[in-house]
Amino acid sequence: MGRELRLSDSDGNLTSVSVTGPRFDLPTIEPESEPYWTALSEGRLLLKLCASCSQYHSYPRPFCPFCWSEDVSWVEASGGAVLYTHSVVFRNDLPPFGEQVPYIAAMVDLDEGPRMMTRVVDCEPDQLKIGMRLSFRTEAVTDEVTMAVFAPEQPSA
Ligand SMILES: [Zn+2]
Repeated sequence: MGRELRLSDSDGNLTSVSVTGPRFDLPTIEPESEPYWTALSEGRLLLKLCASCSQYHSYPRPFCPFCWSEDVSWVEASGGAVLYTHSVVFRNDLPPFGEQVPYIAAMVDLDEGPRMMTRVVDCEPDQLKIGMRLSFRTEAVTDEVTMAVFAPEQPSA
């Protein structure tokens, strides 16, 4: 049930890619990352912590990307982050993004250290400031998949 999609790169060259699924926003959930996605569906963001060098990483891997130790375990993130960079996406032809534009694609630095690709929600683009505090939210994409997104941190009362 594949179909062809034509994509152009920055030089204007067209390439065709064969598409098997109708959506491009859904992850392939592997046994290794399944706890991560399950936790998101429960409203928790998981990281991996290395017992050997004490560094956190995300996305989750079965080994530490800093020291290659396999002595890594799941820990729950605090959910705090700062905005590292962002881009307002006005056009994306890959389904289902075309229906979601404009949206804010962002890279955020989690308080634990890892940098994540994500989206910022509940925020107008002109309110975005590099270094602003963000807090973790979840957004259910399908019945099976919940994504991590971030919103401006609410001042605590
Ligand atoms: Zn390590």
